[in-house]
Amino acid sequence: MPITNSPTAEPLTEVHQPAMLKPLIDPIISRLINNFPDKLVALIKQHGSPLNLVWPHALESNTHALLAVLKQYSVPHAIFYGAKANKSQSLLVAAANSGVGVDVSSVHELQAALRAGTPGARICATGPAKTAFFHQALVSSGSLISIDSLEEFEHLQYVIEAQPTPTKARVLLRYRPKTSPQSRFGMSSQDLLEGLQRLTKHTDIFHFEGFHFHLGGYGVESRAQALREISGFVEAAREMGLNPQMIDIGGGLPIRYVEPQIYARFLQNDNKPSHYYNQKVPEAYYPYGSDLTAPQWLALLLEAEHSPGVSIATYLKLQNITLALEPGRSLVDQAAISLFRVTRTKQLAFNKTVIFVEGSSFSACETWFASEYLLDPILISSQQPPYAPIQAYIAGHSCLDDDVITYRLINFSTAPRPGDILIYVNTAGYQMDLLENEFHRHPLPRRLTASCCTQGHYAFSPDY
Ligand SMILES: *Cc1c(COP(=O)(O)O)cnc(C)c1O
Repeated sequence: MPITNSPTAEPLTEVHQPAMLKPLIDPIISRLINNFPDKLVALIKQHGSPLNLVWPHALESNTHALLAVLKQYSVPHAIFYGAKANKSQSLLVAAANSGVGVDVSSVHELQAALRAGTPGARICATGPAKTAFFHQALVSSGSLISIDSLEEFEHLQYVIEAQPTPTKARVLLRYRPKTSPQSRFGMSSQDLLEGLQRLTKHTDIFHFEGFHFHLGGYGVESRAQALREISGFVEAAREMGLNPQMIDIGGGLPIRYVEPQIYARFLQNDNKPSHYYNQKVPEAYYPYGSDLTAPQWLALLLEAEHSPGVSIATYLKLQNITLALEPGRSLVDQAAISLFRVTRTKQLAFNKTVIFVEGSSFSACETWFASEYLLDPILISSQQPPYAPIQAYIAGHSCLDDDVITYRLINFSTAPRPGDILIYVNTAGYQMDLLENEFHRHPLPRRLTASCCTQGHYAFSPDY
């Protein structure tokens, strides 16, 4: 259902930009919000609230920015889009159109990636609990399998040998870096060497391609260190007659959601218990004001020292090893916005205010991480001047006390009215649909994909 927009002579609505944690916004999306706010109101009328608008052009430009860095350093490379960051099919199509692969962790993600047009050979499967069915599907699509443990190794071997005509499995071995000895993901040095030994004995059913790891957090140095650790195993594998060609360093490239100075100022001045309705500052936040963008992060990693006088980029080139990356969040930077319709604003005791929206803490918050999504929402309001500024927190439509989108008291230049819209920007990375469900039997929020976008012509269609 394409919708063509033209600016109305007299807008019925006003866009109120936040003053505190003003989000960075993709220019195409910003133009829609600022020039055609009434269209967003109309979309919500048609599709309900909350509503997620997905922007595939953002994934394509994020991909190209990372590829440009890899090319600049002339490093052999492979990118696998970490598909768990978002359930959108159009983002998978955008990944396929950009020529990059996909990192999948379920048979459903595998099928969706194939449906989007990604060749099986460009798919890499990670995750510690792959089923026999998933293994079979991966082997028959010729996808790369990251083996998480010796137990998985044995299981996969059994699955292949049980096939009427055994097909070789393309495999990586997942390493557990020394910085995370307690992790349940990956193999210790000892198990990794054992895995390599087993591979030398089963070259008929396994095609060994290299090593993999994925670390929590967003540090460059932890990845550089893990990569240095792995290079010892590259040599060991070669001595055993194997031919490792890839080091896959997983995801964890950062997104910059707000300008670093604004974020630093917020942390310093505006992040005290009194700034929260529940008088509590969450223990941890995503680093929303990242000092590094993802391309800068990648350049730093490539320039990091591998051994005295040898950078990681040089090591990879000299050894002819492909650097694989599995960026999830960073590839979907700016690739969605989430709209919530305001139900009402209510006065509470102690001169506080709550805004109720149609939607819940499952639709845009960091509930899973016991945190909050920190960006201020943009308000689209039909309120006419004079404006009366308020400070309020934002709650969902459930009767559970914890259904709160943000406890943080947000400054609005005018009090939102029923039917007004709050826009959370940059929600594609684990925000918009990670925890989505049918709580209270509310239907799942709709997801529309934007087909871009000359000025004034924004078209949206269902994103399956
Ligand atoms: C989640 C995950 C990713 C993606 O991580 P981001 O932080 O979103 O970049 C990549 N690889 C593996 C194995 C993962 O589990």
